[in-house]
Amino acid sequence: MARKAIVDRRKCAYCGACVAVCPADANELVETFLEIYDDRCTGCGICVKMCPMGALAMVEVE
Ligand code: SF4
Ligand code: SF4
Repeated sequence: MARKAIVDRRKCAYCGACVAVCPADANELVETFLEIYDDRCTGCGICVKMCPMGALAMVEVE
């Protein structure tokens, strides 16, 4: 099991704050939404703390 960040796209304001702070380059603003790349996310949780909208959360994944 590992911790990964997930985004609730209904809450995301597309501000890019999480992209700016991610040390693993694991998220990206694409056309109309925030993408998170599970294979790069280290589960550090920094983005969750920085999101002004409460749109990010950590989950346990296989
Ligand atoms: S949990 Fe850490 S590594 Fe994963 S997307 Fe957020 S800031 Fe990046
Ligand atoms: S910091 Fe939050 S609101 Fe801003 S792009 Fe990331 S998930 Fe969306």
